Amino acid sequence: MTIAMPALYERVSRVVPKAEWLSYEDDVAAILALKKSRNAVILAHNYQTPEIFHGVADIVGDSLALARKAMEVEADVIVLAGVHFMAETAKLLNPEKTVLIPDMGAGCSLADSITPEDIALLRAAHPGVPVITYVNTSAAVKAASDICCTSGNARQVVESLGVPKVLMLPDEYLAKNVARETSVEILAWHGHCEVHELFTASDIHELRAAHPGIVVLAHPECPPDVVEAADFAGSTAVMSDYVGREKPGRVVLITECSMSDNVAVHHPDVEFVRPCNLCPHMKRISLKNIREALEHNRHEVTVDPAIAVAARRAVERMLAV
Ligand code: SF4
Repeated sequence: MTIAMPALYERVSRVVPKAEWLSYEDDVAAILALKKSRNAVILAHNYQTPEIFHGVADIVGDSLALARKAMEVEADVIVLAGVHFMAETAKLLNPEKTVLIPDMGAGCSLADSITPEDIALLRAAHPGVPVITYVNTSAAVKAASDICCTSGNARQVVESLGVPKVLMLPDEYLAKNVARETSVEILAWHGHCEVHELFTASDIHELRAAHPGIVVLAHPECPPDVVEAADFAGSTAVMSDYVGREKPGRVVLITECSMSDNVAVHHPDVEFVRPCNLCPHMKRISLKNIREALEHNRHEVTVDPAIAVAARRAVERMLAV
């Protein structure tokens, strides 16, 4: 069913000014038509801007939701409005479909922080210790690991292995935050998300002083003292559920900037305080390059079949937990 342009604007009117939306309408209309003619779907991460997230996306969510839903997609073409590792994961789970990413430069500081060779060295140094890799890694790194995890299921994945010690890579802060919740010993790597590492515990103290009564929700990629200073920590999906369930009068989401806009659309009664740290990789995706991706079938994401088998096994093992 095609949604009329005024109804689409209505969705985002609280977070996108009308004048700005008018500059998007041509691309939105073209993308909706291209999705039909190419039998394509758009998967958009929670950090995409509202005109993408609410305007043209078919499936939205965090990395885990996108990975899960990517398996059920009925389409010839998947456009991943997100970063490269997400497009690779979509390809792993949909090997027969064309997977496009609108900008090949949409990377990730976490994915770039570790290689399969690093994992080989870690395995040699810690024989027999299973390797859990965060989904924010390349397919080659996933292939070198035993199982994947996301920020939403990391503790469950750690505990599902039934071992006293694991390696959790590459996010040092996620590993340390999960270590506080489990008795399993967790060995970490030194990768960081360049967005979440910018938040500090003093930011949170200042927010509480400036906005009395505010509820602080932090992403587990933040440093442990930030998570400690927050009221609640969880993945973007968990934060979104929290706002819907608890309906705090005033809230701040300690995560990437666009997340608050996308959640605020559904909660007009909640006041969102919005300190803004943008992910430069997520922000490489725009309506313009989504349109061009569909028009010119670019940029196709492929995974070496030899790597794909092992990487898919690590992702599917996670999805089974
Ligand atoms: S927000 Fe952080 S983890 Fe997510 S894509 Fe950007 S750099 Fe990577």
